[in-house]
Amino acid sequence: MDATNLDTCLFCRIVRGEIPAEVVYEEADIVAFRDLSPQAPQHFLLIPKRHIRSVDDLDDDDQAVIGRLILAARDVARSHGLAEHGYRVVTNIGDDGGQSVAHLHFHLLGGRSLSWPPG
Ligand code: AMP
Repeated sequence: MDATNLDTCLFCRIVRGEIPAEVVYEEADIVAFRDLSPQAPQHFLLIPKRHIRSVDDLDDDDQAVIGRLILAARDVARSHGLAEHGYRVVTNIGDDGGQSVAHLHFHLLGGRSLSWPPG
């Protein structure tokens, strides 16, 4: 990804504070914020601060940041009362996966019963 795209990447801009977001969790390399268009009563996005396009662009060296993202999803779920009844953590990859923002993110959805399979 070239510098121009990093300048305009929506989630890179949120990381830099150029676009407002309702941040619910932050640590050195990751941040979690509420989805602008929630698909469940509780809908958060967890992202690495460093630009990674998707799971398909991960390197073996990214093991730690992926681990932190999943553990942060667990913690955000717990702190928002989702653990008791359950929740979903999912990431979309590429066009067929339904990815609309090309910066790796995990959706954390909860607060209602979620159907399966997805559409
Ligand atoms: P995906 O379709 O899996 O790439 O998910 C992208 C998500 O980003 C969607 O659920 C959008 O609602 C969400 N989104 C887009 N713009 C913003 C924003 N400025 N702040 C928070 N969430 C956003």
